[in-house]
Amino acid sequence: MVNRAWDVPKLFQLFGEELVNLIIKVDIQQSLEEDILELKFKLFGKNISAFCSAARYTDFMQEEVDHCFFKLKLNPQVELLVWRLCMNAIPTAYYLFFGRLADSNLCPRGCLEVENIDNCTTTCLKLLQVIRLLNSWGFSIPIFSTFLKCMKKLKSIAVRSPFLPKMYFIMLFFLVLIEIK
Ligand SMILES: [Zn+2]
Repeated sequence: MVNRAWDVPKLFQLFGEELVNLIIKVDIQQSLEEDILELKFKLFGKNISAFCSAARYTDFMQEEVDHCFFKLKLNPQVELLVWRLCMNAIPTAYYLFFGRLADSNLCPRGCLEVENIDNCTTTCLKLLQVIRLLNSWGFSIPIFSTFLKCMKKLKSIAVRSPFLPKMYFIMLFFLVLIEIK
């Protein structure tokens, strides 16, 4: 290399035309002070949608969670689970099955749905049963269709009243997440 660029004449002294053409296609990042390893493959056993999901929730975590839910003064165990949820770090049946660590990807609570983060936080039938029961006692716990919608709504509620978000997370802890923590 000369002046942080490929020395093409030198390359031609050492390699054939085909290989030189390949080498000079490798981008040289001028801003880097030294050579670094380039990440070309991620063999984490995740499919594309799992990567998208992880990125989506990780963004949410970085942008928002530290500003709101950690002010709810939750029990540390519950708070840890909320953090793990937002970091997409919960070993759901979907995740375990995909990694060949479980025989089934279905919800272990028997609702015959795939247990992913949406199922275990919002759509699991057992969870919905408990919400209906609590609401029959006079609470007003909303029902959500996805984890992301749930967190956004709970965040907006937490601004004026921390009670409902706290109750939702504690309910998740005892009903759903305690099985997979
Ligand atoms: Zn379920």
